[in-house]
Amino acid sequence: PVPVVAVVGRPNVGKSTLVNRILGRREAVVEDVPGVTRDRVAYEATWSGRRFTIVDTGGWVPDATGLAAAIAEQARLAVDLADVVLFVVDATVGATDVDDAVVEILRRSGKPVVLVANKVDDAATEADAALLWSLGIGEPHPVSALHGRGSGDLLDAVLEAL
Ligand code: GDP
Ligand code: MG
Repeated sequence: PVPVVAVVGRPNVGKSTLVNRILGRREAVVEDVPGVTRDRVAYEATWSGRRFTIVDTGGWVPDATGLAAAIAEQARLAVDLADVVLFVVDATVGATDVDDAVVEILRRSGKPVVLVANKVDDAATEADAALLWSLGIGEPHPVSALHGRGSGDLLDAVLEAL
C-alpha cells in the first residue's frame, strides 16, 4: 500500500501551500482567510521515486467549538490514518498554546512527526525556526512553502520517517 503523509497545524500556517509545493502544482486550496481548507483532501505525490499519499487538512484547534471542532476532528482522523505526520508551524509567529496542545495529541498518537518551520523565506528567519526546538517534538525543518526554500531537505526527512 502507498504510505500516507498527513499535514496538520493551525489555520493559516501554510499547510495547503506546502501541499501544493510538494505536488509541484496548484491544487490544494490556499486562502488568506484562516481555516479555508475544511476537509481532508488526499493527493498522490512522488519524491525520489517513492510514491505517497499526502493529506491536506483544515485548521486544527483542540477544544474548539462549531466549525473549528469539525475541522479538528477531520485532522484527528487524518492523523489516525497517517504513517507520518507533517506538523506545520508558522516560524514567524512562533509556538502558540494551540501548537503545544497539538504536540500533546501528536505524542499520544505515537506516529512519527516531522516538524515544519514554515514561512522561513530568507536566511534571517532561520533563527525563528530554531526557536521551535522548544516544542519538544524534534528538529524544526525550515521551509518556505511559498518560495520552495528547504522543501527538498524536508521531503528527504519525510522519506526517512516513512
Ligand atoms: P493553511 O490554512 O494552513 O492551509 O494555510 P494556506 O496554505 O492557505 O496559507 C495561508 C497564507 O499564508 C496564504 O496567504 C499563503 O500565501 C501564506 N503562506 C504560506 N506559506 C508561506 C511561506 O512560506 N511564506 C510566506 N511569506 N507566506 C506563506
Ligand atoms: Mg489549507
